[in-house]
Amino acid sequence: MNLELLAFIGTILVAIAYIPQIVHLITKHCAYGISVKAWLLWFFATLLILPHAIAVGDRVLIFLISAHIIAISFIVIFSYFHQAKVCDEHKHKFL
Ligand SMILES: [Zn+2]
Repeated sequence: MNLELLAFIGTILVAIAYIPQIVHLITKHCAYGISVKAWLLWFFATLLILPHAIAVGDRVLIFLISAHIIAISFIVIFSYFHQAKVCDEHKHKFL
């Protein structure tokens, strides 16, 4: 099997892995356990990597970094606005 195809499949799995967290943030308005500062750092780190990926023309890396930037943007934005909120599912963890 083509190595680039495997890498694209891996990248798609990475993107899918973000979905439960983003869905939880949007539907439950809950940012339990999320460090906005850590996610902001990952956001800026990926922004720094993207120009290199574009410069070397690595399509998989461009796709991977773009997926990270989009997903992390959602997480940072929704975590920021819901950082003081906890859903019923996570509320018991404070007790
Ligand atoms: Zn929750």
